[in-house]
Amino acid sequence: MHKFQELSGEKLCIRCLGRVFASVGHTFTNDQRGSNLIFASQCIGEEIFPTVESECVLCEGIFLKIPEYANEISQRLENYEYKTILIGSSFPMEVLEKERLIQEKYGSMGEPIKKEFSRELGKYFVNAYGKEFNRTDPDIMVKVNVEFMSIELQIKSILIYGTYNKLIRGIPQTRWIKYSEKTDTVESLIGEPLKEMGRGKDFVLHGAGREDVDVKMLGNGREFVIELTDPRTRSINLDQLEQIINNAGRGVNVSNLRFSTREEIRKIKNEKYFKVYRAVLETDGKMECNKLKEICGEFNGKVIYQRTPLRVSSSRSDLIRERTVVSMRAECAENGEKVLTIEAEAGTYIKELISGDDGRTRPSLSERMGEDIRISELDVIEIKR
Ligand SMILES: [Zn+2]
Repeated sequence: MHKFQELSGEKLCIRCLGRVFASVGHTFTNDQRGSNLIFASQCIGEEIFPTVESECVLCEGIFLKIPEYANEISQRLENYEYKTILIGSSFPMEVLEKERLIQEKYGSMGEPIKKEFSRELGKYFVNAYGKEFNRTDPDIMVKVNVEFMSIELQIKSILIYGTYNKLIRGIPQTRWIKYSEKTDTVESLIGEPLKEMGRGKDFVLHGAGREDVDVKMLGNGREFVIELTDPRTRSINLDQLEQIINNAGRGVNVSNLRFSTREEIRKIKNEKYFKVYRAVLETDGKMECNKLKEICGEFNGKVIYQRTPLRVSSSRSDLIRERTVVSMRAECAENGEKVLTIEAEAGTYIKELISGDDGRTRPSLSERMGEDIRISELDVIEIKR
């Protein structure tokens, strides 16, 4: 039997006939391809008879339901502000497999039905509702499951970059389980106002490292990206957001806010900037000023070895790390207060550099001074970016 006659036996509609040859003739739609195919078959006297769409063994008339699906999607998105959209679809495995076998018989020049359906539904939707199509980074991703007649939405998070300062001690960076919902965190002080403005579901702070709860973050601030999930409002006024956070007066200020990307989250998470600290020292011993200054000098440019401190050993693996101390300088006030300025590599445990952590950090200031010295107050005063 000839190929044209054989095609009649597949019980396909015009569109599905055309799709068997989707890679032939790029300027045509599959509907046009199907019509051309029927015309050509008539010309050589081997006419193909297509099935009506609703009786087609592949599509069963699903393309006729595009306006219905589009309307349903638009209603589901009624409360969302968005410009760009990407619509995908899934079909039952049997349909895709049946189609693949048909296309194989005629030279595998076709495309899957779900590709055409997604494309046509997308085209219809953006025209009908005045939205833009975006393949790589849409505000909204829709997946239509044709088998179960269901629609799944994925709303792109809003990502905002900034730097924060933590002006008072006792604020953890993120909402850990051990802190109650009522505890202020850097994350919640930035995230709550954003959640309200963007009418989102939840928020996550991605920080470029973290400082301890009892450490202030001063100077040029720490970089972060705050993520708001499922936002209904996307046009966030960043100046206003900054004002709300900073005017709350709860110890966390932000600056340099701008919209960000996933790529930037990866980047700031991997940043290994050197940091400058201010540490106020305490001891039960003498901590004689000239000796202190001299021994601090020994640490300039020194590589130290730090075994994972006991205080964090439950959450980090037990390793010995090498870290470089760039500089350490002591100032002794008239009232006896001793203050260090320390610049060190990212990941240096500063408290242990001073205390020695029972010999886990070597050398340490305590070890070299021959007396137990601790930090009573610690601030990050600059991140070397
Ligand atoms: Zn069909």
